[in-house]
Amino acid sequence: MGDQDRGRLQQVDPPPRSLERYVPIVGEERVRTLQGRSEELAQALHGASVWNVNSTAVGGGVAEMLQPLVGYVRGAGIDCRWAVLEGDPTFFKLTKRIHHALHGSHGDGTPLDDDARAIYEATLERNAVDLESVVSSGDLVILHDPQTAGLARRMRAAGARVVWRCHIGHDERGEEVDRGWAFLAPYLEEVEATVFSRHAYIPDCCDRGRSRIIQPGIDPFSPKNQDMEPAVAEAILVETGILEGPPPDAPLTFVRPDGTPGRVDRAADVLRLGRAVRRDAPLVVQVSRWDPLKDPIGVMEGFVALASEHPDLGAELVLAGPNVTAVADDPEGAEVYESVVAAWRALPHAMRKFVHLAMLPTADSAENAAIVNALQRRAAVIVQKSLHEGFGLTVTEALWKARPVIASAVGGIRDQIEDGVSGVLLENPRDRDAFVRALAELLSDPECNRRMGAAGRERVRTKFLGIRQLEDYTKLFGDLIAR
Ligand code: UDP
Repeated sequence: MGDQDRGRLQQVDPPPRSLERYVPIVGEERVRTLQGRSEELAQALHGASVWNVNSTAVGGGVAEMLQPLVGYVRGAGIDCRWAVLEGDPTFFKLTKRIHHALHGSHGDGTPLDDDARAIYEATLERNAVDLESVVSSGDLVILHDPQTAGLARRMRAAGARVVWRCHIGHDERGEEVDRGWAFLAPYLEEVEATVFSRHAYIPDCCDRGRSRIIQPGIDPFSPKNQDMEPAVAEAILVETGILEGPPPDAPLTFVRPDGTPGRVDRAADVLRLGRAVRRDAPLVVQVSRWDPLKDPIGVMEGFVALASEHPDLGAELVLAGPNVTAVADDPEGAEVYESVVAAWRALPHAMRKFVHLAMLPTADSAENAAIVNALQRRAAVIVQKSLHEGFGLTVTEALWKARPVIASAVGGIRDQIEDGVSGVLLENPRDRDAFVRALAELLSDPECNRRMGAAGRERVRTKFLGIRQLEDYTKLFGDLIAR
C-alpha cells in the first residue's frame, strides 16, 4: 500500500533526517541513548508503520512540528507517514469553532449540536475510507487535534493502535471548554492514549490513566531556526520588501530540510504607509496566524502607545503572518486580517508609518520559514501577546534566537519563560500599560536584553528541542507496543 494519490488523502513526505546533527548541541550521550531506543523500537514494530494524521501540510504549529518529527523517525529506520485529511470550508469552520471552545471562547457561536456532528462525522467517514486503504492492522496512528478525533473508531476497527494528541487546551474549565469536550468525548472513547501539552489541559473524558504530557519542541536545523548571519537576515528582509535598503549583496540563502540550498525569491505582501522599516529602527515583531487569540490589534495599540510616549526609541512594529489566502484549515484568517487592516487604517496618520502588516508568502514553506527566521533574528524585541495559547511555538523560536521576548502568561508560554530571567511574562495579556512598560524597558536596556536572550536560548536547548519530543514519543510507542 502507500500510493501517494489514492482517493482524497494527501500524504506529505518529509525527507529522513539523522540525529547525528544534534551531537554538537546536546552532547553525544543523549544522542546515542535515543538512537539505541529507536533501534529497539524499530525492531519491536516488526515493519508496522507509524502514521500521523492532521489537517494541514503547511501553516500553524502542528505542521511545523511534524516536518522534522516525521523526518527523524524515518531516519531511525521506522516507516513513518504523514497524511492530511480533506475537508470543505463548512467542516473547517466547525472544527475552528471546536478549537475556540477548547480555548474557552465561543468563536463564531456555531451550535455544537446534532447538525454539527453530522457534518463532522460525514467528513471524517470519507477520510477514514481513504485511510483504511493505506493503514494496516498493527500500525500506530497518531491523530492530531480536534479535526481528526472522529477517525479513531474506524482506525481501531482497522486494527491500528490509536493515539490522539491534542495541541491545544485551556487552563480553566468553563462552559465553552466543557461544550468543546462534550462534542469530542464520544470520539475519544476507543483511543488507547491521549497526549496533551500541559496537565491542566487534560479533560475528564481523557483522564483514565491513559493520558500523558509531551511538550512540543523545535528543530534547530530547520529553515525557521537554523543559524543565520545578520547580513543574510537583513538581505532577506530587504528582498522581501519589509526592510528599507539598497539591493542586498549578501546571499538570500538558507538550507532546506533535505540539505539542498534554498533561496528567498518571493516578496511579502506588506501594508504600510510610505517607506519600509528603517534600517536603524529597533524592531518589535510578532509572528503568528491571523487569529483574534493572538491579539494582533492589542499588539498594535500597545505599540502605538509606546511610540507616542517614547518617540526617542524610534521603534517600528512588524506584525507578520501567513498570506491569508493560503492556510486551508483557517478560514477565519482573511477576516481577522481585514479587521487588523481596519484597525491600522484607524490609527493616527503619524503613527501608521511605524506599523507594518506583512503577509508572508507561503507557496514554499521553507522560504516562508526562512523569512520568519530573518524577522525573528532582526527583532530587537519579540512579542507574543496571545490571549490564549496551547503552547506557543513562536515563543520557543524567539527564545532559541536569543532574543528578548515579551509574552502573555497563558498556557504553555508559562512553561517556557521564567519571568524576568528568560523573558518577560505579562500576567494579564490585556494590561496595555504593563505591555508598554515592558517594551520601553527592554528596548532601552541592551545588557538586560543580552542576558535574557542567552538564558532563553539555554532553556530551549535543555527543554524544548525536537530531540526531547522524540525521546518522549519513543517512550510512548514502546509502552503501547509492550501493552
Ligand atoms: N508561522 C509561520 N509563518 C507565518 C506565521 C506563523 O511559519 O507567517 C509559524 C510560526 O513560526 C510557528 C507556527 O506557525 O512555528 C505557529 O505555532 P504556534 O504554536 O505559535 O501557534 P498556532 O498557530 O499553532 O496557534
